[in-house]
Amino acid sequence: YHTSPIRIMFLISDTGGGHRASAQALSAAFEQLYPGRIKSMIVDFWTEIVGQPFDYFPEGYSFLAKNPPLWRAAWQYGRFPLTRRLTEEFANAVGNQNFRRALSAFRPHLIVSVHPLTQFIPLRVLRTLRTPPPFVTVCTDLGGAHPTWFHRDADLCFVPTDRVRQIALRCGLKHSQLRQFGLPVRPDFWQDAREKGAVKGQLRLVKEVPTVLVVGGGDGVGGVGRIAVSIADKVHSKLGASGAQLVVVCGKNEQLKQKLSGRSWPVSVQVKGFVNNMSEWMAASDLIVSKAGPGTIAEALIRGLPIVLSGFLPGQEAPNVEYVTQSGVGTFSRDPKIIARIVSDWVANPRLLEERSKRAKVLGRPNATYDIVREIAKLVQLEHTSGVSSGVSTVYEG
Ligand code: UDP
Repeated sequence: YHTSPIRIMFLISDTGGGHRASAQALSAAFEQLYPGRIKSMIVDFWTEIVGQPFDYFPEGYSFLAKNPPLWRAAWQYGRFPLTRRLTEEFANAVGNQNFRRALSAFRPHLIVSVHPLTQFIPLRVLRTLRTPPPFVTVCTDLGGAHPTWFHRDADLCFVPTDRVRQIALRCGLKHSQLRQFGLPVRPDFWQDAREKGAVKGQLRLVKEVPTVLVVGGGDGVGGVGRIAVSIADKVHSKLGASGAQLVVVCGKNEQLKQKLSGRSWPVSVQVKGFVNNMSEWMAASDLIVSKAGPGTIAEALIRGLPIVLSGFLPGQEAPNVEYVTQSGVGTFSRDPKIIARIVSDWVANPRLLEERSKRAKVLGRPNATYDIVREIAKLVQLEHTSGVSSGVSTVYEG
């Protein structure tokens, strides 16, 4: 055998922060479990491989994400077999050769797709190769998932929940292709958090006062400001100035951060921009208010946080709302006043918080990233040999 590293190609598209983050998390787990034995490359399929005219994807996504009716239309468009087929044929005409070239350049031993739109072209190309590298899909949606995630030709498909498993089965995947461990999350969430009081002290929060974490999306969209103001007012009028303290994470929305920092608040509030220590803020909190992003929900469950969802992207995030509310760990409202009432009711009721927190912990999957990686590793014999068997080398002249 030889000992050169196993090359893993992660296929993503930078639509929202989640896909790159998931690929990075998986790559970090590979590195931790098999140090020095893998080499990851994270490739934005549509901009870096396919190119024009599909390189508008990430920008188009940001635009659509801010225009929910258009977003909904685009989502539905992809669900209908005919419209989906037309787009796929066109994209394939453009992307097929480019992906072939990328394969020859990178020569991956393994391909891991972490995006719903990076299945059909790669798999079509792989079908024509004499010894294609294994192809794995890791679905990063939580409560439901778009059909394009699921392709019968994938060697393995990782689904995070029963609901997503059902969709995969309906799309024609077999039980034997599916593995279910949870969503990949960043390394900070693989370990237990430190004791809450200690974390609170370090983050300059008051130990005895409950903490409400209000999070905007990665790019800070959603009515985070109005929600925070409503909560602060309600908590103050109902429970007094030390009824709760707020941490407001504005993400990349610098303007919002400025605006909220300059305000005077009736309760203690810390306003943050984009934080790199979300795990600690969650560990210091008693509940979270957030839009229905899968990453944030998965992280909050691991940290045992009851969840108030304040919004969702139509289509892919709508099922996350159902997932959270039906599993008894949280509730949903878009109305800042209602959110404020819910939060102040919960904060005033430690038993209820405790019970929801326990349920959240049961659903949390801190080991998912390791579990997924160990399972993928079996496909390239990383698991059982100290070196790499020559059997995995791949021929690309297909
Ligand atoms: N996040 C973060 N710092 C911030 C705001 C958000 O690390 O200041 C992280 C958050 O913890 C989560 C991700 O950004 O891991 C957002 O992913 P999610 O799937 O919830 O939503 P997306 O933005 O991808 O739609």
